[in-house]
Amino acid sequence: MKELMKKYGIRPSKRLGQNFLTNKGIAEKVIKAASIDPQDIVLEVGPGLGILTRELAEKAKRVIAVEKDSGLSGLLSKEYENLKNLEIINQDILSFNPDIKKYKVVANLPFYITSPVIRKFLEKDFPPEIMVLIVQKEVAQRIIAKPPKMNLLAVSVQVYAEPKIISYISKGSFYPAPKVDAAILKLTPESKLSLPKLSLLFKIARAGFSHPRKQLVGNLSKELKIEKERIAEWLKKNNIDPARRAETLSMDDWLNLSNESRS
Ligand code: SAM
Repeated sequence: MKELMKKYGIRPSKRLGQNFLTNKGIAEKVIKAASIDPQDIVLEVGPGLGILTRELAEKAKRVIAVEKDSGLSGLLSKEYENLKNLEIINQDILSFNPDIKKYKVVANLPFYITSPVIRKFLEKDFPPEIMVLIVQKEVAQRIIAKPPKMNLLAVSVQVYAEPKIISYISKGSFYPAPKVDAAILKLTPESKLSLPKLSLLFKIARAGFSHPRKQLVGNLSKELKIEKERIAEWLKKNNIDPARRAETLSMDDWLNLSNESRS
């Protein structure tokens, strides 16, 4: 890896979240979690120096690797030109909209765009079959949270997908080493709600979590601008004690509230 970087004059960019994976065992774990088979189309976000890319291309039918850094996309195009099923695209993933309907997403994500990338793919009309991502450990833990320790990020992901931590990765498995440890996170999308209901669910959940230490009834009343009595009645009808905090509500509670909404 260091030789490659020297050959192409590449210096890891902090701004682009370039912490390259150096541990092959971890790369294999990521690929195994995505259960890639020869029919699969895989979209890789930020291939970097290609530790995941090469292996993906050997296992999948087609790999589309989107890299924002033109130095790295140039390096990959040269070094991997023999991999005919690999397309390297020099673009920002947030503005990349491929016309594919059945695909998997695999990425060691640049940490600065973790949430927007997850949101982008889960909200699509055709979300991926699965997403296997390396993310910061603490973010992965927040995403898989359950009551009584729920949070807005967990609600926003779990309404679209079932999250699972496959394993943890120590910061020493990257070059340069980041400040914090990481985790392999697997997201399996499952659609629970239609779109108009989703925007309502987010409106209610954002209001509920607006002051996480305070009671649900007060938060909802203030943010949704509805009298406390009506909010309390609505919560009770859904078997939720108005004095509870948002973090204690389950996904089913949020789904019930958005199906049974009075706002
Ligand atoms: N996949 C490589 C690995 O595992 O070693 C590199 C992972 S590194 C954490 C993140 C990669 O994403 C870098 O190559 C970086 O240049 C790229 N990147 C950063 N921002 C991006 C963006 N907005 N769109 C696409 N790629 C991006």
